[in-house]
Amino acid sequence: MKLVSVVVPCYNEEEVLPMFYDEITKVTDGMTAKWPELTFEFLFINDGSKDKTLEIFRSLADKDKRVRYISFSRNFGKESGMYAGLSNAKGDYVVVMDADLQHPPEFLPEMYSYVSSGEYDCATTRRTSREGESKVRSWFAMKFYKIMNKISQTEIVDGAQDFRFMTRQMVDAILQMSEYNRFSKGIFSWVGFRVKYMPYKNVERPAGTTSWSFWGLFRYSLEGIMAFSTAPLALAILFGILGCAASLILYICAIISACNYGDGAGTLAIIGTILLVGGLDMICTGVLGQYLGKTYMESKHRPIYIASETDETYRSKKQGA
Ligand code: UDP
Ligand code: MG
Repeated sequence: MKLVSVVVPCYNEEEVLPMFYDEITKVTDGMTAKWPELTFEFLFINDGSKDKTLEIFRSLADKDKRVRYISFSRNFGKESGMYAGLSNAKGDYVVVMDADLQHPPEFLPEMYSYVSSGEYDCATTRRTSREGESKVRSWFAMKFYKIMNKISQTEIVDGAQDFRFMTRQMVDAILQMSEYNRFSKGIFSWVGFRVKYMPYKNVERPAGTTSWSFWGLFRYSLEGIMAFSTAPLALAILFGILGCAASLILYICAIISACNYGDGAGTLAIIGTILLVGGLDMICTGVLGQYLGKTYMESKHRPIYIASETDETYRSKKQGA
């Protein structure tokens, strides 16, 4: 038997939850008919909702034994919801998806066939269009992926989503990343493994509203950059070098002016000296920043490596097959 845990973080989702439950059970019933070895559990997370989300969880748990839930004492954010779900899921496979049907359950059978074939450790969707989203938001999203991929070693595919079907092995790797400031898109990519991207067009919410404001998203993207890159700390070095270069130019101008006119050199030399001292100061701050960056990354206590296979796992898999 193989257990699949479906983790669903929810914040004020009373309107879509019944629809979501109907849809997901329709799809998972189809899957158990096709693959009799599959069983499911649905692990809902109530992220401090102010509406009837928790009541709906209770009534679902009453009528369906497969329904489990965790209710937070307040709103901790989707990242915390996903972490709670992943760390409490018992499945051999774990699915993470939104409650608002923007992550269509119809993808699950295909995702399962990719992951169960052993060819992939994770199947996920990739938005190829951003229909229904404002132009400004799409533009910022595009720029975010560009900047992020330039300054960080962790590659994040444009349009990547938190809709994932993963093996237990990959989930355990993600849980090893116990950092407090979580940016899941980066974490999913950081742990590696073989990922199947399934392109699809953006779907709009059937009910309820998005809980992300533009500024909320903007702050979240800065969080992403800071969690996976220390490049901004190097800015001080850049400005410092520019300041020193400018001071050098001023000194040369001062010397030329002194030789040719015997005048005006003093002011230039003073400005040059100010720039030089400022520049050196900035460079030193930048160097400090480099050490701070290293300490920051160390403080996350990320695993030093993640193995995807060893002779042991290979042998036990062969025995199991
Ligand atoms: N969500 C959550 N906590 C929050 C905000 C959102 O658990 O603080 C959940 C929400 O219920 C939904 C998913 O995260 O299942 C995605 O949220 P939303 O649809 O608002 O985001 P969008 O799809 O607009 O990016
Ligand atoms: Mg949504």
